[in-house]
Amino acid sequence: MDDVVKTPTDFYAAYIFDMDGTIYLGDHLLPGAKRMIEQLHERNIPVRYLSNNPTKDPAEYAQKLARLGLPTPVEEIVNTVVTTVRWLQANHPDAVVYPISEEPLKRALTEAGFKISEDPSEIDVVIASYDRTFEYRKLQIAFDAIWFYKRAILIATNPDRFCPFPGGHGQPDAASIIAAIEACTGTKCVANLGKPNPVMLTASLAGLDVDPANCVMVGDRLQTDIQMALDTGMASAMTLTGEATLDDVRARAENQRPRYILDRIDKLIPLQYWPQLGWSEDD
Ligand SMILES: [Mg+2]
Repeated sequence: MDDVVKTPTDFYAAYIFDMDGTIYLGDHLLPGAKRMIEQLHERNIPVRYLSNNPTKDPAEYAQKLARLGLPTPVEEIVNTVVTTVRWLQANHPDAVVYPISEEPLKRALTEAGFKISEDPSEIDVVIASYDRTFEYRKLQIAFDAIWFYKRAILIATNPDRFCPFPGGHGQPDAASIIAAIEACTGTKCVANLGKPNPVMLTASLAGLDVDPANCVMVGDRLQTDIQMALDTGMASAMTLTGEATLDDVRARAENQRPRYILDRIDKLIPLQYWPQLGWSEDD
């Protein structure tokens, strides 16, 4: 067993899961995910799901989880569509916004009553996002609103550089859109509503009567999933089924490492319970 690999020896009060690279990869559940989640449900332990990806809304994630065999109420899912809209409601409730984004964020903003505009002379907030329809025209509108009219601020849904796909592929994510706008306007993004911003944890634990110190955050990325847990004093568990590797962990200072490292997600269920559950690693 490797020196940095450790698994939990007891249950936590609640479990918060990243999805991509943690619960599933592409369109397949990762080994052990289903029985692990079912075991937590059987013990009535709350489970929540988080995603930095704003190209789907929580209902679409609920559908995906159900399709993969994990029926999940939509209230148990929080992504950056949710946190971005809530942040704007709390901080800039009357803002005219310009989301450089795909449909789910635009839909949620409209439903929340925000005016969306492409007229740079009235835009208060430019929202950089993971937008696979990004083009020069959108960059020009952001540039004019921020630099020429000097009125708009820049915020972002999430800080990810790329979104990983099965087989080592991926797509440029919101960081590239943020960088394009920052580069031409000389401005800085003032708020980033995805992990590692603890706003994601607050949103996902809302309504649960649990102490965050007794909860565990489970994910595959050190800079987002694990960093957020470290910043909030929550236990962290890193899966080796997504982005980060053991070498990435070793490259970090000891107090910046995840508390647990899992080569299989079902090792979240303490190993001493496995015999009575009839589990083995071959399942
Ligand atoms: Mg992930």
